[in-house]
Amino acid sequence: MYYSKFCTFHDTYENRIIYNMKQIVKWGLIIFWGLIGIFLCAVLLNSYRFRRPSYLSAQEKLVVSGYVPHIIVRELLGASVPILQLLPPGTEPHSFEPTPGALVQLKNATAFVYVSDELEPWAADLAKAAGSRTRVLQLAALVSSSSSQDPHIWMDLGKMQTLFAQTAEFLCEIYPKDCEKIRHNRDKSIKQIEQLKREFADTLTTCKYNKVIHIGHLAFKNLLTPYGIDLISLSGTSHEGEHSVKKMVQIIGLVQTYHIPAIFTEETLSARLAQSVVDETGVEIVKLYPIEYVSKQDFDHQVSYIDLMHRNLESLKRGLQCPA
Ligand SMILES: [Zn+2]
Repeated sequence: MYYSKFCTFHDTYENRIIYNMKQIVKWGLIIFWGLIGIFLCAVLLNSYRFRRPSYLSAQEKLVVSGYVPHIIVRELLGASVPILQLLPPGTEPHSFEPTPGALVQLKNATAFVYVSDELEPWAADLAKAAGSRTRVLQLAALVSSSSSQDPHIWMDLGKMQTLFAQTAEFLCEIYPKDCEKIRHNRDKSIKQIEQLKREFADTLTTCKYNKVIHIGHLAFKNLLTPYGIDLISLSGTSHEGEHSVKKMVQIIGLVQTYHIPAIFTEETLSARLAQSVVDETGVEIVKLYPIEYVSKQDFDHQVSYIDLMHRNLESLKRGLQCPA
């Protein structure tokens, strides 16, 4: 009897433990799947935002291809005029393909500003199809491109000053009432770039090393050549070049031969490539900013040309060991 009673007590206790455990597992699963659900919602919302970001709105009338025309136009006009950028943040412009909606946006736009047919063949196609109501400005047409075939014209500080000056006149025709403000902003930007030129010259003529080994595309030639700095890039002037094993071996050889302390990278390129050079040689990685595209974070903060160029100068100063 006692034995049987004990058994009953024991069974009830065990059942209670099993019941409690089942409850714990049940609630654990509910919480787990709940968290998975929240996570999936966040991912879906994020991808939705990425496909149709907030800066794509039908009312906007001034359209730009990418971040270079964007910062020029914005710095000239100020924040009052909304600008629609076709290239999503974090995307490189060379091989981008716009959505069919881009042409609709462009047909309704007052103006479309893009860098060049070479840099953005997709923008050149859009410009041709835009229609007579949309005024088109190709920035490369404003500056001489006889010196090189390099489409990264904004890396030439002198050319960038011309781009500000000429784009200001283009915008004055579209927004005559704002012309005084546009010209005031033009003068401010040109002055800032003049100061930037002095900073680059003062710093980059004091460096211990004169080779920029860039695990990226050939975007910085116009910036570095005036100071006698050699640029060795993994790929050509677009991102499409093959990253051959031969080129990687050559880069590792250069780092070792010249005892180079740092290599340079850019944001969209695989970090694995730079890491493989680090694994072989122990060099430091320093980031450069091509400006033709910026991260989502920099886009949201509307980081300026001067700020991005200052970052480039700081990176070069560190990587090339320039004391000034
Ligand atoms: Zn580029």
